[in-house]
Amino acid sequence: MENRKTALITGGSRGIGRAICIELAKAGMDIVFSYRSGKEEAEKTCALCEEYQVRALAVEADVAVKEDCTGLVEKAMEFGDNKIDVLVNNAGITRDNLLMRMSDEEFSQVIETNLAGTFYMMREVSKHMLKKRSGSIINISSVVGIKGNPGQVNYAASKAGVIGMTKSLARELAGRKITVNAIAPGMIETDMTKVLPEAAKEEILKSIPMKSMGQPEDIAKAVAFLAGEGGRYITGQVLSVDGGMAI
Ligand code: NDP
Repeated sequence: MENRKTALITGGSRGIGRAICIELAKAGMDIVFSYRSGKEEAEKTCALCEEYQVRALAVEADVAVKEDCTGLVEKAMEFGDNKIDVLVNNAGITRDNLLMRMSDEEFSQVIETNLAGTFYMMREVSKHMLKKRSGSIINISSVVGIKGNPGQVNYAASKAGVIGMTKSLARELAGRKITVNAIAPGMIETDMTKVLPEAAKEEILKSIPMKSMGQPEDIAKAVAFLAGEGGRYITGQVLSVDGGMAI
C-alpha cells in the first residue's frame, strides 16, 4: 500500500476525466480528483475507482480559482502520504461563438479554466515533484489547439497555449526526471460533444479518417501509458488520439 502511486486528476466527475481516474485506478494508483459542481457524479467516480482496491478522494475545486488549486494540491498531498506522482490536467470547458459575437466573458472563462487552471496546477504540483525528482504531468489539449476550428478562437487559444506550456515545462523539468506531455483528443463522446447539433456531428465525422468518434477510454489508456513505465523516456510530446483528424 505504501508503494502505491498517487494520481491527481482535474475534472474527474464525468467524461474523459472519469475514464482517466478509472484507468489509473486499474493500474493500481490511489486517485484524487477535482470537480466543479457535480457532487453525485463525483461520488460515482470514487465508487468506480474503489472497485480496483485503491483509495479515491473527490475534492470540490474550481481550477480557474488559484486558491482552489492550492487547496486541492494540499489535500492531495495529505491523502497521498506527502507525494503526487502523476498530475493530469483534464478539466476544461467550451463557450463557442464566432469571433465577431464572442463576448469578453466567453473568451476569459475559457482561458481562465483551460489555460490558467493548467498553469496553477502545474506550478503547485511541480514544486513537490521537484523535491522528489520524479513525476509525470499530462495535459489534455485538443485537436483544435493544433488545427483551429471556426467558432472556437477562445478554446483553440487555450488548447494551443497548453501545448506551448507543456513543451516549455518539459524543458524546465527534464533534468529532474519529471516528464511533461500533452494528449490532443479528437472528437470524443462525452457531455461536451453531446450538445452539438446532429448536422454538425455528421460534418465532423466526415473529417475523421477513421469515420467514428472516440470513447473516453481511448484517451484514458493513452494517459495510463504516459504515466506508466512505457512513458519513462518520453517528454515534451503531443500525442494525438483522434482517429487521424490531425493528419
Ligand atoms: P465534460 O464536459 O464531459 O467534463 C468536464 C469535466 O471537467 C467535469 O468533470 C467537470 O466537473 C470538470 N470541470 C469543468 N470546469 C471545471 C473547473 N473550472 N474546475 C474543475 N473542474 C471543472 O468534458 P470532456 O470529458 O469531454 O473533456 C475533458 C477534457 O478533454 C477537456 O479539457 C476538453 O477540453 C478535452 N477535450 C475533449 C474533447 C471531446 O471531444 N470531448 C476533444 C478534445 C479535448 P463538473 O461535473 O463538476 O462540472
